Amino acid sequence: MKIAVLKETAPGETRCAAIPETVKKLVELGAEVAVESGAGAQASVTDAEFEAAGATIASRKDVLGGAGAILCVSAPDPATLAGAPAGALLVGSLDPLRQREWIDGYAAAGLQALAMEWMPRITRAQSMDILSSQSNLAGYKAVIAAASVYGRALPMMMTAAGTISATKLFVMGVGVAGLQAIATGRRLGAQVSATDVRSATREQIQSLGAKPIFVENVAGIEGEGSGGYATEMSPEYQKAQAELVSGHIAKQDIVINTALIPGKPAPRLISDAQIATMRPGGVIVDLAAEAGGNVEGTVAGESVERHGVTIIGASNLARSLAADSSALFSRNLFNFLNAFWDKDSAAPLLPADDEIVQAIRLTEGGKVVNERLG
Ligand code: NAD
Repeated sequence: MKIAVLKETAPGETRCAAIPETVKKLVELGAEVAVESGAGAQASVTDAEFEAAGATIASRKDVLGGAGAILCVSAPDPATLAGAPAGALLVGSLDPLRQREWIDGYAAAGLQALAMEWMPRITRAQSMDILSSQSNLAGYKAVIAAASVYGRALPMMMTAAGTISATKLFVMGVGVAGLQAIATGRRLGAQVSATDVRSATREQIQSLGAKPIFVENVAGIEGEGSGGYATEMSPEYQKAQAELVSGHIAKQDIVINTALIPGKPAPRLISDAQIATMRPGGVIVDLAAEAGGNVEGTVAGESVERHGVTIIGASNLARSLAADSSALFSRNLFNFLNAFWDKDSAAPLLPADDEIVQAIRLTEGGKVVNERLG
């Protein structure tokens, strides 16, 4: 099977869907890999490195010709895929709900589009989960971004000129990104606290050396819930949470927000009035910005100032770590192809009754087939 790796064209996209390591592994599986010239440039991978790993380098038209699978990071405009054979797999982060017209375009072109962000949260799929791998890096980068605009140092420092006190850093939403934000804040010497609605996170927060801040008088989500995701909380819980946050946030210097509810707008966790209680110079990084934001006044992709506090509306922070985010993303794609690889046909075999295939397959045989796109 020929596997094509596209050079990304989405505005701001820096990542690449392959790295030399995954090219080598795909070749070892028996695939032929064709990388579009310049595909790795922004992720610090040269064409020569791809070639040395066993790929051929060619134009978009030539990599697509005869391809059985096309790997990408962001969804490509279907108009740019002319020449791809009918039945070819298109594997990447395809943003199906927002790019619905393009999904129809992939169907019309006869492609089998596979949206990797719809990977189910099951143990077997963990190594293929692009949301986790990219969120992890985003959680790290959120703290670095906050530290770089914050006018104070994060660790406590005792100097001849006096003592600098440790920064108080609060993480709201302790999923994959939040856990990494806690770990990064701790490594930088901040005094870290964190909150979530899932009570299972309490121990995780403690095990990273941070202080859990939880609503105690109203029940949260016990255990992991459905697939480990949160749901919308009751008005009673929301009120108790707002009161808890009000008391805590006035003492915080940096706040990292990561709270998301799948398929819903992000929960609003910080109001403008609460921001006004923070010390001037404080920094809030809202990783939920693109989903509407956890913070009142957030603007996705921009930094704004309210009451002397900088609010960074973070959007796709993993892109700013292009080499590492490409490496993890590429390995997610390789792990997926490898898990379904059929040795006899030297190509992936995707059984229609497989839970993973059902969740991520968007189009097949000229039609949109995913029930979420009904
Ligand atoms: P997410 O990005 O959907 O949400 C981030 C966090 O925000 C979650 O922890 C959520 O509980 C929290 N949140 C939602 N509403 C909130 C509110 N009102 N206040 C405070 N916090 C709120 O979550 P995620 O990072 O994708 O991970 C969620 C869970 O899924 C984790 O336990 C993770 O380990 C698990 N997971 C499992 C797999 C797998 O098994 N394959 C893969 C990835 C993640």
